[in-house]
Amino acid sequence: MICANCKERIYHARNKNSKQYCIHCYMKLFDPENAKKCTTCNKLFDPKGFYARSFVGDNCFMCSYWLKAIDEVAKDENTFVASGRLYTINPYEGGPARLRGFAGRLLIFMMNNSTILKSKNAWNGSVIPERFRPQLPDTAVLVKTYDASCIVCNKTSGRLRPLLPGHYYCEEHYEEHKI
Ligand SMILES: [Zn+2]
Ligand SMILES: [Zn+2]
Ligand SMILES: [Zn+2]
Repeated sequence: MICANCKERIYHARNKNSKQYCIHCYMKLFDPENAKKCTTCNKLFDPKGFYARSFVGDNCFMCSYWLKAIDEVAKDENTFVASGRLYTINPYEGGPARLRGFAGRLLIFMMNNSTILKSKNAWNGSVIPERFRPQLPDTAVLVKTYDASCIVCNKTSGRLRPLLPGHYYCEEHYEEHKI
């Protein structure tokens, strides 16, 4: 869906005179008194109709989403960036495949720190907008195949961390063997 005014892709649409507008253009053109100005992108937005927790300070919904992502990537190793895309791993791999991320497809990531992460429940948090790329650089790459197994128990799934080059350990054995 494209905004009738700015011609950009719409994330939050508002209807007016049977045309679709992005929330920023809608507020600017039709409802400026009720608009708030985003501290990051300077666009107008409507804080009503969303939970207050959706927003970080006086940032619009989209900027808030990415500011939260920056925070998540910093503190949660299950949230990371590969090829300009945000991914979140849900460690739970049970239940029907169709209810998991990427329909339960196995995705293999090589982290910048050489950890291999194999997941059948990876969620795509969408492409990072150009303006947030400096704060959300790639921390992983998506690889097609990677043969690695825990040197102790031979486990080949989940998170495998190297202690020496090419010597991988599952999470349990990594904790036991790290110095
Ligand atoms: Zn617009
Ligand atoms: Zn914004
Ligand atoms: Zn192991």
